[in-house]
Formats: sequence, structure tokens, C-alpha cells
Amino acid sequence: MRAAGVGIIQIVQQLKLAPTRVKRALLTSQVYQTKSFSATPQCYISKIQNEEKVFSENEMIHVVNENGNYMKYPWLWLRDNCQCKTCFNPQMQSRTIDWKYFDTSVHPKSYSRSNDLVNITWSDEHESQYSLKWLQEREFVPATQKKWLTQVYRLTQVPWNAANFSQVLKRFQYCNLIESDEKLLQWLESLAVFGIAIIEGTPSREDQLQKLANRVGFIKQTHYGEEFVVRNKPDTTNLAYLAVPLQMHTDMPYYDYKPGVNMLHCMEQTTEGGENQFVDCLYLSQLLKETQPDIYKTLSTVPVDWSDIGEEKKDAFHTLYRAPVICEDKLGQFARVNYNQWQRDSHFNVPLEDVISWYKANAIFTKALYDQKNMVQLKTRPGEIVTFDNIRLVHGRSGYSDSANNERYIIGSYLDWDIVHSRIRILKKEITRS
Ligand SMILES: [Zn+2]
Repeated sequence: MRAAGVGIIQIVQQLKLAPTRVKRALLTSQVYQTKSFSATPQCYISKIQNEEKVFSENEMIHVVNENGNYMKYPWLWLRDNCQCKTCFNPQMQSRTIDWKYFDTSVHPKSYSRSNDLVNITWSDEHESQYSLKWLQEREFVPATQKKWLTQVYRLTQVPWNAANFSQVLKRFQYCNLIESDEKLLQWLESLAVFGIAIIEGTPSREDQLQKLANRVGFIKQTHYGEEFVVRNKPDTTNLAYLAVPLQMHTDMPYYDYKPGVNMLHCMEQTTEGGENQFVDCLYLSQLLKETQPDIYKTLSTVPVDWSDIGEEKKDAFHTLYRAPVICEDKLGQFARVNYNQWQRDSHFNVPLEDVISWYKANAIFTKALYDQKNMVQLKTRPGEIVTFDNIRLVHGRSGYSDSANNERYIIGSYLDWDIVHSRIRILKKEITRS
């Protein structure tokens, strides 16, 4: 090969078309070491270096990062995510491309790299620019994606059982959550990671859950309104009313959009009984999967008909939702638990041969819920709010007895996880910025 006979432009063209390994070989070959290039202007050399930092192959643009590794981005993804004013509105943080006209045969006509910018001119003459930082944050590799999925999308949940619950349970002061964004974030993160947290020092007023919910976003409304009261109304002839235990359950499994976070504000507590019981079904489902896979399979595949038929303040409702006791996501990870015996319909729309095995599996699950290795108990004091994940935890309450001067009085309210996750992201961004 005679280097002098090869024009620099031709070499650059060759490099654009050449597969990576050929390109590396070319760049390190004698051709480039030869003296005939000694007269080459500096700009050409930097052009060659820049060509090496970005090239196109297999319908993807390859960009070399600071560590010398290649990051790959499909042409279609790049064109779809063009950051120019026509394609993206920075105020709305939204794509504004009209996809009716999106051409999937679009390809780069030319491309270049200048410092930390990748420039592409497309086959339709449209021009795009992408910063290296922006590209790096969106790299199609497991490490980058895992970081985003566990730090931005959802925080990694930590399972617990009775043995390690004391290390998991965090306590927060109500006034701090109202006044401090840092504390508010700590509470919400605790809730997201462990599924439970306690708030202390709440003023004894009936609007305090509303005030707290407003710090996060807004209350989740249901057919029972924005707030519900857990209180016995003993008849006047029987003041020592014995409140029965509340079986383990999740609230409202009959909603597709089941309330995400349950908040129970203890206004008054009885001396006898009234403990809250909790089981982390993220932990329990993993345990069942490992130790009793057949039971787990039945519970996670057989859909149950959950229902609620009634009337609240003269508004009649008939809610239905079909889902297994343990719901998995597409990756087979725990996604949601549904468990509530009095809200389980007698309609059971499954093949006949699934019925008996489901009952047996549900009995084993029920036994596991009441197992002291899995269940924790705590009794809230006046001024405490127990907040917990209704998608993940199953809860119940032991029986209690009110007396004339001591009536258990709890106010409850819900939040949606969408609203909580959103507030976590906003707070994290604001706190790191300041
Ligand atoms: Zn554009």
C-alpha cells in the first residue's frame, strides 16, 4: 500500500465504512506512521481521531467514552430522541416528533464528533446533536440501566421478617416531615425500601393525615372517601364492647388501582389489645418460591375474583378485580399481594381442576402469615401514624376492648405509589442541587 497515493478524505471515508477491527488496524498501521503524513495539517489528524471516536455500524452509532469503551445507540433510537427544538420541547420535557411521519428507514448521512458532542446529519437532511453525558446516562448496558431502575425508577426493596424487623423499622417526627424536605424524603425512602415506617408526635387533630398527604401530593380517594375511621360504636347498654380481631388482609384487592400506602393515625389507643400485625410478602413470597414451589406457583398463577359490593353515603358501588394472591411482574419478581377473605367473591372463574389445589395453597399461605417467624406486632400510641405498603404487606389487628373512658380511635387514609415515587424523585433532585 502506498500511503501517499491515498488521500486523507478517502481514508476518512474508508474508516466510516470499515468494521471496527479493520478501523483500529488501519489507524495503527504503517499507513498512518509513514513519513508521508508528516506534512499533514494538524486538523486532519484530529479529524482522524474524531472519526475513531464515532462511527456507524449495524444500524448503530458507536461512540467511544472517556474510558475508551464503545457505547452503541441504534440509529432509530437516536433519530427518535433528537434533542433539537423541532423534535423535543425542553419546557415540557417531551418528544414532539409526529410519529405518523416517522420513517424507520432513516439513516445517518454523515456524522462527526466534536469534543463531547456527537453530530449527525440524517438521510432526510435533519440535523441532530447529542452530548456525551446525555448519551452515557442512556447507554444500553445492564450497569447503566440497573442504576436508573433502582435509583430513579424504583428504589430497591429490602425484604424482612420478624427476626430483623427491629433494624428495619424507622421512626420519624411529624413536625420534621412537615418542615423538612430532607426528613420527608427519608420517610418516603424508608417506606419504599422497607414497606413500613412510623411517625411520632402527630398533633391530636383529625386533619393531620390530610396535611401530611399534602406534603407528598394528595390523598388517594376510594369509595369510602378520603379518610376512614376505625372506631367502635358501642351501644349505650354495653360500654365494655369487645372488638373482634381483624383477620390478616390487604386493603381493597378488588381495585386494579389498589391503594398503595396505608396511613393509620392513632388518636386514641386501648389498654387491652389492638396491636397491628404485619407480614412482608416480598419476603414471604420469596420464601415460598424457594421452599414450596408448587404452592407458590398456584398462588401466583390462579386468578381470584376479589369483590366489594355496597353503598357509602348513598353512593352504590360494585367493584371487581381478578388477580392471583401473589402477582409477579414480567421478570417473575414479586409485584403485589392480594389477600382478603371477606372481599373474596364466591364467583371463582378458574378451571374446575384448579379449585381444590388453590384452597390448599391458600391455607398454607394463611398459616405462613400467622407464623411468628414472619409476623410482627406493634401497638401504636396516641400521636403515632403507622404508614405501610398495601401492595407489599399483609396486615391485621388483634382484638381489643374499649371501656367508657378508653375508646380506640384510628383515622386512616391512603396515598398512591405513583405520587410517592414522584415526590421521592423531585425531593432527591432538589436536595442534591442545593
Ligand atoms: Zn430534531
